[in-house]
Amino acid sequence: MGVDLFARCRDYDVARSARAAGVYPYYPVFAGPGAPVTELDGRSVIMCGSSDYLGLAADPRVIRAARDAADRYGTSRSGSRMLNGGTPLHAELERELAAAAGLPEALLFPTGYQANVGAIAGLTGRRDVVLVDAEAHASAYDGAGLGPGRAVRFRHNSAADLGRRLAASPGDAARLVVVDGLYSMSGDACPLPTIVETCRRYGARLLVDDAHGFGVRPLDVGGVDLLTVTFSKALASVGGAVLGPPEVLDYLRHHARPEIFSAVAPPSSVAAALAALRIGAAEPWRGERAIAGAAGLRAALGAQGHTVPAGPGPIVALPMPDLASTLAAWRGLLGAGVYVNPVVPPAARCGLRVTITAAHTDAHLDTVATAFADRVTPDPR
Ligand code: PMP
Repeated sequence: MGVDLFARCRDYDVARSARAAGVYPYYPVFAGPGAPVTELDGRSVIMCGSSDYLGLAADPRVIRAARDAADRYGTSRSGSRMLNGGTPLHAELERELAAAAGLPEALLFPTGYQANVGAIAGLTGRRDVVLVDAEAHASAYDGAGLGPGRAVRFRHNSAADLGRRLAASPGDAARLVVVDGLYSMSGDACPLPTIVETCRRYGARLLVDDAHGFGVRPLDVGGVDLLTVTFSKALASVGGAVLGPPEVLDYLRHHARPEIFSAVAPPSSVAAALAALRIGAAEPWRGERAIAGAAGLRAALGAQGHTVPAGPGPIVALPMPDLASTLAAWRGLLGAGVYVNPVVPPAARCGLRVTITAAHTDAHLDTVATAFADRVTPDPR
């Protein structure tokens, strides 16, 4: 008799004991729209844990576009883009994404996660080195781990550390550097000019994952070789894309396994993303409002005595001292009708992550700030 594979599941007690103690925060079930106000356990809550930054996931124009696409093309293509899955909508979204980002061409993936994994693992070979920012998204690490190259982590936002690690990598290795445009957990931005300059100095290629910034704040793509985006945030849908030079995307069409061996994003998702992309461009106040709302909340929390990291986007990160205080603060806010994301290791250091969207009203933002004042004690350190 060998070892039972499921033994580790029986021994994995973290979720079970948290549930028994009534402090398990994950996999909640929301009745109602995703944002800005939804329903949890029969109570109305302000949703500050969704990345629907432009407030378009419940917009009637986006819903109509999704419905029309389902009417015309069905609910699923039931296969991959490579074989039977493509529609004119997929090609149209690729054209408009490339034009919006200012890069030559785009290639859709079923999700943003798959876009990162597909691009990184698909491009890199056995001798290659993938250098990933310490706070980059898990999909960047998974792509680096899945590919045959060597993964190297460099200090968050440190061009100096990146430069040292590039200098130390073998001369015959091709190098790919991976950063986020806007970091999902800390809410800070990549210092792109210094990272671009460092990549150029060592002849490395640069991939920027702008999942959280795309459609919300412009990104200067000068010096960016590849850009990945998701539709699950500003674009009010599900899906992702890699943008870059045509020859690289053509290579990925034949080497990016998450694109080749997975079903294409459904036409309704693609149509929703296309509608949201157009609305976001025509209504720039949406991105500006989300960013201004987050800046206002950062200022309010600062005035309450919290130490809030600066950030240029719609994500407000509030570090917490430990797991217990994180969960207590999360529960306190929920009691006041405000849902935020609790962040615990190994995803990142302990903290609360508050996302602000264009659909949050001034009254919602006031309620959120008041809930923090009433329920979350500033860390005295
Ligand atoms: N990159 C970053 C920085 C993200 O935060 C996420 C989603 N959490 C992804 C990629 C993956 O995107 P998707 O939801 O489309 O899989």
